[in-house]
Amino acid sequence: MVKLTRRQIVRRGAGLLLALTPVSGAWAKAAPAAQFTATRIWPAHAYTRITVESSRAVKYQHFTLENPGRLVVDVENAHINTVLQGLSGKVQGSDPFIRSIRVGQSTPTTVRLVIDLKQSVNPQVFTLAPVGGFKHRLVIDLYPQGMDADDPMMALLNSHTAANNTPRKPSAPAPSKPQPKASAGTRSGSRKPVVMLDPGHGGEDPGAVSPNGLREKDVVLSVARETKKRLEAFGYTVYMTRDEDVFIPLNVRVAKARARKADLFVSIHADSFTSPTARGTGVYILNTKGATSAAARFLAQTQNNADAIGGVQTSGNLQVDNTILDMTQTATLRDSRKLAQAVLGELGKINKLHKGRVDEANFAVLRAPDVPSILVETAFISNPIEEQLLSSASFRRQCAEAISNGVRQYLGSAVLRR
Ligand SMILES: [Zn+2]
Repeated sequence: MVKLTRRQIVRRGAGLLLALTPVSGAWAKAAPAAQFTATRIWPAHAYTRITVESSRAVKYQHFTLENPGRLVVDVENAHINTVLQGLSGKVQGSDPFIRSIRVGQSTPTTVRLVIDLKQSVNPQVFTLAPVGGFKHRLVIDLYPQGMDADDPMMALLNSHTAANNTPRKPSAPAPSKPQPKASAGTRSGSRKPVVMLDPGHGGEDPGAVSPNGLREKDVVLSVARETKKRLEAFGYTVYMTRDEDVFIPLNVRVAKARARKADLFVSIHADSFTSPTARGTGVYILNTKGATSAAARFLAQTQNNADAIGGVQTSGNLQVDNTILDMTQTATLRDSRKLAQAVLGELGKINKLHKGRVDEANFAVLRAPDVPSILVETAFISNPIEEQLLSSASFRRQCAEAISNGVRQYLGSAVLRR
């Protein structure tokens, strides 16, 4: 042990103190302020979303004010910058909920967002951890007030806000005996067949994006709209899980199909793969145990990641219950395969098939236990040739035609079966 003189001790102590001071000072002031790095607004009739991206997770508080209606969000330990100031300019006149947004530094450490509202809203404010290319996100969702309690989106909100022991909402499966659900069964009366089309992704979640910037969410919405027209011309009732650029969580898509008592569910995608050479149209059905190929597993993983990308509050009573799934699964899967085969056969007439047969993977969006469900992969947006196809209106029309013809074939054979 080195003996120190009194002076040395004092000096060292002082040095130690000096070394500690900035550190303890930083502790006292808490974490460094968050830097705002991006803002976005996704106006839609279903709900409008405001996303504020930052370098660090933020703490926030929010409250509403009346006359005129406002939502105030205080972000703590943050400093206003030009990025955040740019939010005000992003409000569109057509936004169903937002009249204007003001941002300001309300205290030396608090940034205040004042959202002037056009109608009273049910606000959902939450944060999301970084995922994909996104940093920390503060998400402000504005839902219309007075939404039908049976609406699957409302059920999802309730599952977040209400105590978690509330009974499942009507959208949840009734654990009754398995129904040998042939789509024909519901149609023997006057009821028209009901088709739920599900354009993948939307809003904050672009889906796959081609090197030239073609976005999956836009392609599949246009294919779905075209498909709807054709199916309606066949005399079917057709709904869409989204008909605008909005993000809808996967389980809400499933719940919407069930709430509408859909006879079948078609999710439409245009996916990508790590290798640009991967190409070809494909049709998937659910396989809860595992994918039939590595590529199928990869696709299911990327698709199931949509909720993380698009952003949903985690919790959720609206999960499809796997025990109930098992009860009706067999009949539903049999019908799903029939539907998939019919659609794949039609799609094979317009494009090279990725595989010659129906593929299987554990896609969350296909988990409705009692609605035959398929996922159509129109083409690979990551393949230069197919990217060209997907950007052409004629190929989109052909896809729509093929899907509709496949659906009609399936429904037709279901009728014959009875
Ligand atoms: Zn997709």
